[in-house]
Amino acid sequence: MKRRNFISMLGAVPVFYTINKYDKFNLTNKKVRSNNMSKFELPALPYAYDALEPYVDKMTMEIHHTKHHQAYVNNLNNAVTGTQMEGKGLEELFNEISKLPAAVRNNGGGVWNHNLFWKVMAPNAGGNPSGKLGDAINSAFGSFEDFKKQFNNAAATRFGSGWAWLVVSNNKLVVTSSPNQDNPLMDVADVKGIPVLGLDVWEHAYYLKYQNRRPEYIDNWWNVVNWEHVSKLFDGAIK
Ligand code: MN
Repeated sequence: MKRRNFISMLGAVPVFYTINKYDKFNLTNKKVRSNNMSKFELPALPYAYDALEPYVDKMTMEIHHTKHHQAYVNNLNNAVTGTQMEGKGLEELFNEISKLPAAVRNNGGGVWNHNLFWKVMAPNAGGNPSGKLGDAINSAFGSFEDFKKQFNNAAATRFGSGWAWLVVSNNKLVVTSSPNQDNPLMDVADVKGIPVLGLDVWEHAYYLKYQNRRPEYIDNWWNVVNWEHVSKLFDGAIK
């Protein structure tokens, strides 16, 4: 076979996806290509930019996805390319994030957290969780309303930029929050666990519509929570 033909055959090798225990829902969106180069990519939004109106506005969604999330992806690729970290999955990096450069912590968290965030929201969603997840919330927090109070409080009182989380920690549901783009999978987290629901409380997530009124953004956000997806994450995280 001529060398040129052989090379063009290599070019046709399909993209392989890495699988690990957190990657069932393709949150890491890491693709390993046939040339062994590894790149993180911006996932497509699973709905239109205006689909979460009026609770989350179109312009916020568009800037959040195409500018903020894209920047985390680009900066993460720049931070890992050509280093020992290249080719590793995000969860693998999070396990030892305290020993890695700040650019990997900030942008790796930014990529993973937003991958989750888009999926735990949907149009025509909201309401109350049912089934196994609904039961687990009632048993952990007393009632859905009590859970919401605790989550809202974590989101509203997170000083500066950060995230509120519902996580499975030691096989139990727990509410926690984290600063910046940290998350509960990181070795630096106050409460470690597997996130099943996350809320972005950076100002870029709400300021265009809500300005300084973070509690109003949080209250309205419950109308777009995709409990079907949160339930799947819960089923995957609980033993
Ligand atoms: Mn954000």
